[in-house]
Amino acid sequence: MPPTAKQSDLPKIKISPRGATRLKGGHVWVYRSDIVSADGVAPGSLVVVTTERGQSLGTALYSSSSQIAIRLISHEPVPDLPALLRQRIAAAIDYREKVVRDTDAYRVIFSEADFLPGLIVDRYNDILSLQILTQAMDADLLRHAVLTELDERFHPASIIERVDPRVRELESLPPRESGLLQGRQTNTTFRMNGVQFHYDAHEGQKTGAFLDQRENYAAAAPYAHGEALDVFCYQGGFALHLAPRCAQVTGVDSSRPALEVADQNATLNRDLLGGKEIEWIEANAFDLLKDYSASNRRYDTIVLDPPPFAKSKRDLDSALRGYKELNLRALKMLRPGGILVTCSCSFHVSQSIFVEMLAAAALDVRRSLRLVEVRGQAKDHPVLLNVPETSYLKCVISAVSL
Ligand code: SAH
Repeated sequence: MPPTAKQSDLPKIKISPRGATRLKGGHVWVYRSDIVSADGVAPGSLVVVTTERGQSLGTALYSSSSQIAIRLISHEPVPDLPALLRQRIAAAIDYREKVVRDTDAYRVIFSEADFLPGLIVDRYNDILSLQILTQAMDADLLRHAVLTELDERFHPASIIERVDPRVRELESLPPRESGLLQGRQTNTTFRMNGVQFHYDAHEGQKTGAFLDQRENYAAAAPYAHGEALDVFCYQGGFALHLAPRCAQVTGVDSSRPALEVADQNATLNRDLLGGKEIEWIEANAFDLLKDYSASNRRYDTIVLDPPPFAKSKRDLDSALRGYKELNLRALKMLRPGGILVTCSCSFHVSQSIFVEMLAAAALDVRRSLRLVEVRGQAKDHPVLLNVPETSYLKCVISAVSL
């Protein structure tokens, strides 16, 4: 892809009326099935998108293999793509300076939601973690622009790339290892809401931690009390936030490595926990909740934060059954006055469907539930209106009144 090009020299891709309607409706994606002609357009090219009659709809990044063939980056001509990316990165960083508080770990760049489709960057204190998700962003020239801007703004100890092999395969990109792009440091500690966490670039799911829950940890903490159960606890995000207010906290996860880090995190926060021990249980959450609710265990605070059950629209029904089963069992175990913090990170399960599921679960176990807060992802994971896929996390805090 030439770094700077006259708009008239860029390849043109015609899209169907359905694709054009989508772009005119504010979305930024065009699916492959809506491409009329893209013959000979090189993978990852900067292109002009047009209607069938040749009217320009904007400038976009093209993928020759993904189902999302086009990601619009501007309604205007783009004479210098690396310069545009650097401006957008700078704007994303400025935005975080306004909306992010009480943490040195947050998402710096969230792909489409920061008008940088295919690029995700997370900050963990002095380490930046980067993910590249498209052919266009993988180009050396763009990688260079991204790294230069990040380096100038953060002067990080290191920048690490996390590679998802499946994404590279879908994008027909050559395999690549995760690893350091700059610097040598791969470990650090970071702090959010006064709680400390270990970060190890070589370990962990996602890019390290579930940063999207940061504000929900802080929101849930004031309601926590008594005996608490953090189900799908990973490295202890909720458990550690709840512990200072609870008599006892148990975290449950099926991943032993995650629980080992959770335990190290508890040690790191010894002062905050005031000598309180958190119990970590390695178990399948579905089995454990079934056993515990059958044996009449009781809790005052329960967190449910499962992995996404609905990866596609087709999975919606089975996902809802999964959510309902978990929530039913948790509700059954809560004492009157108890707090349920229940989450879903499945984009296909909308907020209203999720709340309906919870209402149905409450009815089934004959509990009266008060909605305390209906929340989403933290502000460093912005939601772009008209691009619904940018909004995916639900976190509902409710109180059992009877
Ligand atoms: N609450 C966590 C994030 C949870 S992510 C935080 O705030 O950091 C989902 C977690 O569910 C992962 O840690 C994964 O290991 C765990 N998990 C997935 N399937 C599970 C199962 N069947 N039983 C228990 N844990 C499971």
